Amino acid sequence: MENVVIIGSGPAGHTAAIYAARANMNPLMFEGFMAGGVAAGGQLTTTTEIENFPGFTSINGTELMNRMREQSIHCGTRISTETVNKVDLRRRPFQVFTDDGMVEAKTLIIATGATAKRMHVPGEEELWQRGISACAVCDGALPTFRNQPLVVIGGGDTAVEEATHLTKFGSKVFLVHRRDHLRASMAMQERALHNAKLEIVWDTVLLDAVGKDSLEQVKLQNVKTGKEYLLDAKGLFYAIGHTPNTAFLEGQIKTDESGYILTELGSTRTSVQGVFAAGDVQDKRYRQAVTSAGTGCMAALDAENFLQSEEPSHV
Ligand code: FAD
Ligand code: NDP
Repeated sequence: MENVVIIGSGPAGHTAAIYAARANMNPLMFEGFMAGGVAAGGQLTTTTEIENFPGFTSINGTELMNRMREQSIHCGTRISTETVNKVDLRRRPFQVFTDDGMVEAKTLIIATGATAKRMHVPGEEELWQRGISACAVCDGALPTFRNQPLVVIGGGDTAVEEATHLTKFGSKVFLVHRRDHLRASMAMQERALHNAKLEIVWDTVLLDAVGKDSLEQVKLQNVKTGKEYLLDAKGLFYAIGHTPNTAFLEGQIKTDESGYILTELGSTRTSVQGVFAAGDVQDKRYRQAVTSAGTGCMAALDAENFLQSEEPSHV
């Protein structure tokens, strides 16, 4: 039986793994196989440079996650590249199921992060990955987008970052936002407002994706005037936020109305004793690599304390 099973492999999961391994808890991590549509390593593998993770002036997102993975293994974490599709938390030991089998665990750390949302407008299913994407950083450099008009939907940090990134490739990038001011941080906004290739289309929503074999136009509507119009676009990139990856829990842990796991204030304890949650899966406010790492550390310490309170000689 495992002392601790960590589900998820972003900054939260790996930090939890490093702390748990160094505390002699011999952790087992399920890193996932394209779980929630994201590669092992999590959301940072879908971006370019990270400039706000302490210790690195600038580091590529995938490189940062590779380093965390190496450190987890170096400290003694065992990593399985499987996705957890079910858990049974009704009794202890907890049961954790993958396609290949089941393991039992005294404690669980859930660090499954979040997945990019889609809009499901008419035309989207047919044109998905034929000009429509939820990851500009992954797909933006494709030849089909070079010197073409591109559209990004959203008004947060991701939208501004992705729109800015796309200006390297497209002839013009339209950032379409449903309100008249951005949610993105001031530093990000500055970048957008000073980029000559980026135009913000305020108070506007996406109605349709139009094209035969690939995207050719988007139908937009100004929500203040009601005016609908077509805009030429070879690329349409969603940057409208994320859904927490909690479906596999099947309601066995208390979440908020959006599915984010509820934790006790100042801890990573969930509604189930012995189950801890860290990172974006329990945080819809800060959602940063460093805050995820911070709560990953907390989850490992909470799990260690829990084990010690139950079995003082567990390690
Ligand atoms: P995630 O990174 O979401 O990782 C969770 C992992 O768990 C994924 O690999 C997933 O596949 C896996 N998983 C999910 N379900 C299962 C399952 N059932 N079984 C097994 N594995 C599973 N933050 C910053 O601080 N700086 C930045 O510059 C920055 N840039 C960003 C750019 C983009 C485009 C995006 C989308 C986010 C960015 N963020 C940035 C936010 C940052 O990436 C997240 O806050 C952070 O990655 C969250 O870490 P996490 O460990 O909670 O989860
Ligand atoms: P956010 O939730 O912050 O923003 C989502 C945006 O999409 C909002 O502007 C929202 O509009 C809009 N939106 C949501 N649903 C729809 C819809 N159905 N139709 C049209 N627009 C919609 O998500 P992000 O992914 O931008 O950011 C997530 C977290 O990751 C944040 O904490 C952010 O700070 C962090 N991050 C940090 C980066 C960095 O530090 N470099 C880079 C990227 C992300 P409205 O504003 O009206 O609600």
